Amino acid sequence: MIKIEDKTQCSGCGACRNICPKNAISMKADAEGFLYPNVDDSLCVKCGLCLKVCPIINNTPPFHTGRIMAAKHKDENIRSAGSSGSMFSLLAQYALKRGGVVFGAAFDGKWNVVHQSAQDEQELDKLRRSKYVQSDMQECFRLAKKFLQEGKTVLFTGTPCQIAGLKNYLGRDYASLITADIICHGVPSPLVWRRFLEETLPLQDISAIDFRYKRFGWDASYLCIKKKDGASLPEIKGLLKPFKSLLLRSKGRLFKIIYILPFTISNLYERPSCHACSFKGCDKYSDFTMADLWGVKNFIPEMYDVKGVSVLMLNSPKAEDLFEELKNNLIYKDISFENMSQYNPYFMKSTEPSPFRAQFFDALINKKGSFYSLIRNKKGMKPLILKIIRFLGGAR
Ligand SMILES: Cc1cc2nc3c(=O)[nH]c(=O)nc-3n(C[C@H](O)[C@H](O)[C@H](O)COP(=O)(O)OP(=O)(O)OC[C@H]3O[C@@H](n4cnc5c(N)ncnc54)[C@H](O)[C@@H]3O)c2cc1C
Ligand code: SF4
Ligand code: SF4
Ligand code: SF4
Repeated sequence: MIKIEDKTQCSGCGACRNICPKNAISMKADAEGFLYPNVDDSLCVKCGLCLKVCPIINNTPPFHTGRIMAAKHKDENIRSAGSSGSMFSLLAQYALKRGGVVFGAAFDGKWNVVHQSAQDEQELDKLRRSKYVQSDMQECFRLAKKFLQEGKTVLFTGTPCQIAGLKNYLGRDYASLITADIICHGVPSPLVWRRFLEETLPLQDISAIDFRYKRFGWDASYLCIKKKDGASLPEIKGLLKPFKSLLLRSKGRLFKIIYILPFTISNLYERPSCHACSFKGCDKYSDFTMADLWGVKNFIPEMYDVKGVSVLMLNSPKAEDLFEELKNNLIYKDISFENMSQYNPYFMKSTEPSPFRAQFFDALINKKGSFYSLIRNKKGMKPLILKIIRFLGGAR
C-alpha cells in the first residue's frame, strides 16, 4: 500500500485514492495545507493497485513534444476570457460540440480550488483561467472513466502530474479522450491561499476572483477580486474615473506582489514535489501542452497584442489530427524550442525552493504573524523585496 515517507515523492494527483477498490485512501492536508494519501489499514486488502497507478513510481510518458506554436484564438471575446491565447477554450468547445465533458480547475463555493466537470458552454467558464493554488482532484478520475465508458468525448486538463495520474489510473487509451496539460511552474499551498483571502476580505463578500485580470494587458495581468456590491476591489465609489483606474491598478499590483510574486519569483510556498518534479521536459503524458508565450514581443512582435498569446504544443498523433480540424479558429506560427524555453525555464527544470520556505511555513502554521506581515518581513524576504523592486521598475 502507498506510504509517503518523502514528501517530494507525492504530487497529490489523487490517482491512488481514485483506484482503491476498498475506498481505503482519503486525501488529508498536512500542516502546510497540501493533500497526501492516508490509508485506513482496516479497509486495505493489500492489492497494490495504489502503488501501480502512482505516476511518480511508474513514470513512462508515451509521447514526446513535437510541433511547438505561438497561437491565439481568432475570437477576441473568447481570448479575453482565458489567461493567455485561450487554447483551453478551443479544445473545450470542440469537446462540448460533440456532446462531451470537460474537466479542469474551478472554485468551489468557499473559493477553494477543486477539479470539476462542465457539460455545456455556461458551465465552461468556471474552468477557464489559471488558478494559482493546487487543485483538489476529488473523484474526477472515476467520473472521467465513467463518461469514457459511456462513449463520450472527454477533455481532461490540468498539471502534468494530474494528467500522468489520470493516464495511469485509466490504464489504457480511449479514442474519445483528449488530454491537455500546462507548462507548470509549481502549485502554491491551499492553506496559504486561504490565509491570504481571509485576511483580505470576508469570503462571503466575494463574487469573483481572477488571477489573470487582463484590463491592463495579459502579460501585466493582476490578481483581481470582485465584491458582491459590484466593486472591483478596491474601487472606491465616488472617485473620478482616472483615479479609480489608477487605484485599481495599484491595488491589483499590490495583490500580485503580496500573493503571486512570492510564488512565481521566490518559490516560497509551492508543494515540495514541485521542487523535484518528475514531469518536466519533452516526454509527455498529454496530447497537448498549453502555456503563456512569454517573451513573444521579442521574437515574433507581429503576434503580440494585449489580449494574450499562448504556446501550443502537439505531443501525440491525436493532437496533430485534431489541430488540422481546429486550426481555422486560430492565428498561429511555428516557433523553435529555444524561443519557447528561453522565457519558460520551468518547462525543463524544477523550481528551487526559497531559502526562507521552512521559516515562512513555521511562522504561518504557528500563527507567529499574519500572512501579510510575514510577506512584509524584510529579514526573511530580502531577496524577494529586491526582486519586487526590479519588477516595479518594469522588468519581468
Ligand atoms: C499553477 C499554475 C502554474 C503555471 N505555470 C506556468 C508557467 O510556468 N509557464 C507558463 O507558460 N504557463 C504556466 N501556467 C499556464 C498558464 O497560466 C495558462 O493556464 C495557460 O497559458 C493556458 O491558458 P489559456 O488561455 O489557453 O486557457 P485558460 O482559459 O486560461 O485555461 C486554464 C486552464 O488551466 C487549468 N488550470 C487552471 N488552474 C489550474 C490549477 N490550479 N491546477 C490545474 N489546472 C489548472 C484549467 O483547468 C484550464 O485547463 C500555469 C498555470 C497554473 C494553474
Ligand atoms: S493496497 Fe489496494 S486496498 Fe490497500 S490502499 Fe492500496 S489500493 Fe487500497
Ligand atoms: S503522486 Fe498521486 S498516486 Fe502517487 S502517492 Fe501521491 S497522490 Fe497517490
Ligand atoms: S511542478 Fe510538477 S509536481 Fe508540481 S504541480 Fe506541476 S507537474 Fe505537478
